Amino acid sequence: MLEVIVIGSGTGVPSLKRASPALVVKTYQTCILLDSGPGTLRQLLKVNIHFSNLDVILYTHLHPDHITDLIHFLFACKYTPAFTREKPVFIFGPRGFLSFYEQLEKAFGHWIAVPEDKVSLSEISSPSIWAHEDVIITPFATFHTENSQGYILQSEGKKVVYTGDTDFDESLIKVVENADLLICEASFPSNYKVEGHLTPVLAGKLAAEAKVKSLLLTHFYPECEAIDIVEECSQVYTGPLFLAQDLLFLTV
Ligand SMILES: [Zn+2]
Ligand SMILES: [Zn+2]
Repeated sequence: MLEVIVIGSGTGVPSLKRASPALVVKTYQTCILLDSGPGTLRQLLKVNIHFSNLDVILYTHLHPDHITDLIHFLFACKYTPAFTREKPVFIFGPRGFLSFYEQLEKAFGHWIAVPEDKVSLSEISSPSIWAHEDVIITPFATFHTENSQGYILQSEGKKVVYTGDTDFDESLIKVVENADLLICEASFPSNYKVEGHLTPVLAGKLAAEAKVKSLLLTHFYPECEAIDIVEECSQVYTGPLFLAQDLLFLTV
């Protein structure tokens, strides 16, 4: 059984109701954080996950609402009384992630420099696959920024797919096919479609055409909150549907 916890269901727009994008997927042996917008490490504490408990962190792209707490994470790792783990944390991002990190190092210097045996930073992109303990991680290209990507997580015979930010593209159907859970962005309503993002209808179309077993929508901008998201999505997708809210807990 995999556990999925929505840490932040919002966007870059400050909101008392929705924290910035972040999700946790827990397999039997591995605790994976997907994206870490501002405030993620504090938000994790609300579900009893200390930053030392994270085994793997995956970034979908380098937008501030998805990656800002990486700085906070690295700085927190320097405080050894709190960073108690013995095994390294593996942090992956798309192409460009390492040069992004170099820029951070220029800005913050040794305050964020953590030894490699504690924190391992790498780039991963399709068609590479990474196996760690009991999970297989497969990145796939998304339609948001030049190098943005989503991740397929497979463990215990289950398939969970996280899109990160993306627009619709037919190629995603094959990637998402038969997922037990598709965690999909639905940023804006159909009457306010923004390039590089999905609407609830397009997310539903992807879920329906890929025959996913359940769908979790997240990353709601205020314009999307103003509509009936379930009604829009249900026009095309009729399977089990969940709307993300902060600290929502699901099992797969
Ligand atoms: Zn975003
Ligand atoms: Zn973005």
